[in-house]
Amino acid sequence: LSARLQGIFSGLKSKGRLTEEDINAAMREIRMALLEADVNFKVVKSFIAATKERCLTAEVLDSLTPAQNVIRVVLDELTALLGETNAKLELSGRMPNVIMLVGLQGSGKTTAAAKLAYRLKQQNHQPLLVAGDVYRPAAAEQLATLAGEIGVKVYRGDGQDPVRIAREGVQEAISTMRDVVIIDTAGRLHVDEDMMAEAQAIKDAVEPDQVLMVVDAMTGQDVVNVAAAFAERVDFDGVIMSKMDGDARGGGALSIRQVTGKPIKFISAGEKPDSLEEFHPDRMAKRILGMGDMVSLIEQAVRVQQEEIEQEEAERLLRASLTLDDFIMMNRQIRKMGGVSKLISALPGGDRAMASGQVDEGALDAMEIIINSMTKEERQHPEVLNGSRRARIARGAGVTVPEVNALIKKFNETKKMMKKMMPSVDELQGKRGKK
Ligand code: GDP
Ligand code: MG
Repeated sequence: LSARLQGIFSGLKSKGRLTEEDINAAMREIRMALLEADVNFKVVKSFIAATKERCLTAEVLDSLTPAQNVIRVVLDELTALLGETNAKLELSGRMPNVIMLVGLQGSGKTTAAAKLAYRLKQQNHQPLLVAGDVYRPAAAEQLATLAGEIGVKVYRGDGQDPVRIAREGVQEAISTMRDVVIIDTAGRLHVDEDMMAEAQAIKDAVEPDQVLMVVDAMTGQDVVNVAAAFAERVDFDGVIMSKMDGDARGGGALSIRQVTGKPIKFISAGEKPDSLEEFHPDRMAKRILGMGDMVSLIEQAVRVQQEEIEQEEAERLLRASLTLDDFIMMNRQIRKMGGVSKLISALPGGDRAMASGQVDEGALDAMEIIINSMTKEERQHPEVLNGSRRARIARGAGVTVPEVNALIKKFNETKKMMKKMMPSVDELQGKRGKK
């Protein structure tokens, strides 16, 4: 599927002007992609209608790069539907803060409870976990094991009455000076009255600051019905999507957001306590459309180039009359794209290169410090860098002369390489003439 979508995007990219037919074809593919990512069909329908309308405006069609604009509109619209901002976990001023988790059995509540506790602990809070699932055999045991791994206390009470355990748990937090209480509750395999009544009773008893619903991203379409049922019966403030490390595309997130209006707060991707991530609508939009980090890096690269490199500087670069100032600029661009490691890990096999330690991020910093100790003349005309100048620079930058020599050597090599790679000025002007 992803391949098909990439196909339609690159098909669009290669066209100069777009017609309504082109847009229709692209919308058909996007519609399929959304349906396959488990987005509710009603949501898909209204999304496509709105997006298509925006794509058919002169602003997009008559622009210089209509295809890129179509992609941008699709991503924009999808991101807006998923939520405008990155939702954060907001704690009220109340002591202790009470967070309650609800959701079906197996959705990932107990795991998410431990992950939340871990995250809060990292942020210097003192969380207390409360084992409110008294039905599932060994449920409290599971929570206690996870809590033990992250060094957080669990309140288990008598293991009989979930409402009482929750209430006592809050008291326990007060008497032991813990500032956040996370209540794990029991789910059922399907939406049923028992579960709803119990969740409501706990809610009435402890009046949580927020109720988070945990949904399994792998459940697909059904997620909407479950979320709608909870929204109506118990109500909740936000969603944690679990099991995003599987092959789920996350279309459920879009449906939940649209059907219930509740924000997605976290993405849980793995069984380890640190695998809870804040939700980023823009990344999710790309995931749903099946476009990876690669796309965002390319986009970023294009944007950085357009914004940052002034025409004159760009031409100088292309003529390969590279100066040390250019060198710094290149360095900064790499940084803007998320650093060398991010750039490399987005490439096929990149993770392996990272793991084997072939990337030296610190070298970028060292390089900039050295260049910063040079005069303007030295940066523009590195050939003036004789022995005494190099010694002065080394002293100024707090490095050794061989380190300065290494930088200049590296710079000269880059310059040579660029001369080989770059088209001549004539070729360049020919290209620009066509545009
Ligand atoms: P609960 O019944 O809602 O409390 O669900 P659990 O927290 O017990 O999770 C059910 C199963 O899903 C367990 O085997 C968990 O290890 C697993 N699980 C939970 N969250 C994730 C996740 O984000 N990724 C993966 N791969 N497994 C998860
Ligand atoms: Mg559980």
